[in-house]
Amino acid sequence: MTGPLIPPGPLAYGTELNAVYAIARVVAETFDTEAGLDTVFRLARTIFIFDVVALYLQNEDSGEIEPTYARALGRGRSREAEIAWGEPAAFEAFRTGQTVLRREDAGPSVKGRERRRDYLGLPMMVGGRCVGGLIFGRFGGPSYPPEHIRLAEFVAWHVGQLLENRRMARRIASLEAQRELARMQDEFISTISHELRTPLGFIKGYVTTLLREDAEWEDDARDEFLHIIDDEADRLCELIDNLLDSSRLETGTLSMSLEKTRIEPIIRDVVARTRSLYPYMPLNVEIAENLPTLEIDATRIAQVLNNLLSNASKYAPGSEVNIRVTQRGGQVHIEVHDRGPGIPLDHIPNLFERFYRVPERVDDARGTGLGLFICRKLIEAHGGEIGVDSDPGEGARFYFTLPVPSTGRKSHRENQDE
Ligand code: ADP
Repeated sequence: MTGPLIPPGPLAYGTELNAVYAIARVVAETFDTEAGLDTVFRLARTIFIFDVVALYLQNEDSGEIEPTYARALGRGRSREAEIAWGEPAAFEAFRTGQTVLRREDAGPSVKGRERRRDYLGLPMMVGGRCVGGLIFGRFGGPSYPPEHIRLAEFVAWHVGQLLENRRMARRIASLEAQRELARMQDEFISTISHELRTPLGFIKGYVTTLLREDAEWEDDARDEFLHIIDDEADRLCELIDNLLDSSRLETGTLSMSLEKTRIEPIIRDVVARTRSLYPYMPLNVEIAENLPTLEIDATRIAQVLNNLLSNASKYAPGSEVNIRVTQRGGQVHIEVHDRGPGIPLDHIPNLFERFYRVPERVDDARGTGLGLFICRKLIEAHGGEIGVDSDPGEGARFYFTLPVPSTGRKSHRENQDE
């Protein structure tokens, strides 16, 4: 093919103008860089001909440029897309910051006109800095006339704008993520400080009262104060344990020892403890007979059950609580059902997330939103599931499952170790 690819005259200028306008619009309106590049190059091909296009961008770590995008739109299309088209021209444009024209010979193995390759390399400017090179390649001639080089420079400038938009969008996203992180950290610190301060406030208050030299306390009163101090010190320990557990579970550093254990004694121990802690809680227990031996960490399973029962006493005070333990197929199913206010359905999907508390209920009882998160992580580490059903007026039915290890099957731990 010889002569200009776009005939001069009003028609050509009209086509050029339309394409130039469309390219500018795509750049202004597109947020998807890859799709934007596809459209810009498709439009560019209506105003000057090229067979392949490749974009080389600087790798931020090595400082070197490398191919990041390539398309074959003309003669090269039948061949597999070769990402490294025109590499020398891209390097030169990047190094010099100038437009470069290079002619290459693809070698005798390439038959016919495609052996001759003209590469136009343009420096890729983003945010006032040269960050790579854009290559337009034409197979089998003709070479690029000056008006096509100008059009290519116009396209390159717009590609730079597309990349600048992407850089800005990434920067905004990272700033937003940092702001969100800072907000969550602030919220975390204020929740935790509040939670730590409350028991500490009680302890300090009652100790100061007992130490007053101007007052004499009856034995009963002194006893009551000491019990409060004792309870609040327990609460403080529990809170710190929960914080440590939750961060270890988050980072995967909590150690657990899974051993062949029967579940009944664990349940009975927890029930006995609950009865002494909450003597007014009507607590019914139903455990199926002949439950299989499980492979579990008894302390951690007791911790999960304690947590569900302590929540029932906090959020469903005075309500009857039923514990049911059954076997369902390859699982042992443990359920704690109270008849309290239940949980609004829209909060259930988030209930087991770290720090999540039902906003309308935060005044009902003290808490950090760590308990159910810890329960979920512990049960998942056993290969089980945890969940809750809550029908209006039916209270909350929390349940978790523990897999029954079958003799021929690998244990959950062995599977995890692989
Ligand atoms: P915390 O009790 O410290 O807030 P949890 O993770 O144990 O944290 O519980 C998360 C939230 O789930 C609680 O704040 C409460 O709103 C809700 N919740 C938990 N158990 C019950 C229950 N038995 N009945 C009603 N709401 C509950």
